[in-house]
Amino acid sequence: MPKQDTTDFSPPCHECGGRCCRYIAIGIDPPKNQTALHNIRWYLLHANVSVFVDHEKGWFVEFTTPCEAQDRKSRCTLYETRPKICRDYGTAPGDCEYYANPYAMRFEKLEKFDAWIEQKKRKQV
Ligand code: SF4
Ligand code: SF4
Repeated sequence: MPKQDTTDFSPPCHECGGRCCRYIAIGIDPPKNQTALHNIRWYLLHANVSVFVDHEKGWFVEFTTPCEAQDRKSRCTLYETRPKICRDYGTAPGDCEYYANPYAMRFEKLEKFDAWIEQKKRKQV
């Protein structure tokens, strides 16, 4: 299949309200032992902290906190000097949360994560 030309593509940020400017997400290792599971349980005991898995099976801890460079109309006031991660985001058609749910799994509360751990244990029996 020919590669799609994305040279002139820009995401529809003017319609979106800056959804990707309201949090930071840091990649974490998938939890493969008790310590890692308990670390995630600890993250989820904090306000405005979530953990999610994306559609490529990457695990992330997310801090819901608006970027201070966003103005009241959700526009970037640092557009020319915005960080690279902002420049690289949404640069292909469909490649940001404006288009689709980016989460394969999302945990906002400890109870939901504990239920997932229990479900995993039952599957292993
Ligand atoms: S989620 Fe996509 S469309 Fe919305 S502000 Fe971010 S890059 Fe733009
Ligand atoms: S620097 Fe601009 S594009 Fe990047 S998160 Fe902040 S408001 Fe959004």
